[in-house]
Amino acid sequence: MNDEKRFTHVFSFVRSLENNNKAVWTDRYGNTSVIIGKELLSELLQEWKRRPQKYVVLSTPIIKNKINIPLNYMFERGSVKDVSKILSIGGAREHNIAKEFINNKQNKVIEFITVPIPLSNDSFGTNRFSPRYGSVMTPSLESTYPSKIIIDLDILINIPVYLNIRGIGEIVGLYYSIRDYYSVRKLSPPKKAINNIEYDICRLIEALRIRKNWLKLLAINLIKKCFIMRVFEDHQIGAGGDHLIAYGIEHYLKSTNKPFEDFSHGRLVYLGLVVMASIFPEWEYGFFSLKNLINVGKNLNLIDHKDMELLVYMIRKGIIPIFAIKTRLQRPTSLSAISQARIRKSIGRLEECIKKHERGGIR
Ligand SMILES: [Zn+2]
Repeated sequence: MNDEKRFTHVFSFVRSLENNNKAVWTDRYGNTSVIIGKELLSELLQEWKRRPQKYVVLSTPIIKNKINIPLNYMFERGSVKDVSKILSIGGAREHNIAKEFINNKQNKVIEFITVPIPLSNDSFGTNRFSPRYGSVMTPSLESTYPSKIIIDLDILINIPVYLNIRGIGEIVGLYYSIRDYYSVRKLSPPKKAINNIEYDICRLIEALRIRKNWLKLLAINLIKKCFIMRVFEDHQIGAGGDHLIAYGIEHYLKSTNKPFEDFSHGRLVYLGLVVMASIFPEWEYGFFSLKNLINVGKNLNLIDHKDMELLVYMIRKGIIPIFAIKTRLQRPTSLSAISQARIRKSIGRLEECIKKHERGGIR
């Protein structure tokens, strides 16, 4: 399959999901069905309760109290054996634990279902997990894809909006990851793919503005990202320079104990993609301009004035991109080959945005 066909394959899957609220993906890794709707989780839990199979439910504390079955965190300590089904409900932590458990071949899990709550990142639909060594964050490894993904709209609507909105970092960052992926290979991404991604992001931002249908569109955009990485059999197409900068910011702030309000992955990726837009103005395309990204990010509380100043500081000190690249040395990125002149211009562009903001120009 050539690249254009791979993208088209994902886009038609996603269209069918949007129109029918369900779709099944099939490839050499197996089947993954995706369903979108209301009260899906409670229906599933009722069904599981009736059948005496051994299963484990991992749940985020946000909804732990709302689920009427005993929740099991035991297998975090590796003490659960013969589990045939795993249901992980959460942002990233729960899916990560589940994938790490499944990755241990001694555990023969037949069914792995994920329920993203909130829609803050893409971990519910990928096969990646980060092994945990205490509090140290490690580069991710491959495990299994979920056999089913459940998007439960009435649970999602009842959690704070800002938690779901973080997922926009992943979705907008995808554009910069794809650009980076092709640029490193001295190629251009298929035009149709770029068009499709931009079009759906604009629809999502508009849906958010009028607060209509936005959770479904947010989920669909995240699923699109997951399946692009899956069809390319390479997660790097969805985790390029924007992600490296996000890891760099996180490592730097944590290692220097600098106060920072929100270390969530989605928001850090948003900061990363703003830097990418300032370094690579030639990638500007419709929605994806530095000015627009800052406007949208400010409206959605994904970036503020202080963050912008922090980014400029980090670029000046060379933390971005050098420290950022070092977080994943094996990952090819266009950030490795940028000149000092390009870095200076990037600082100039960001500072201009900061000044305009001070004068109230950007909004
Ligand atoms: Zn990510």
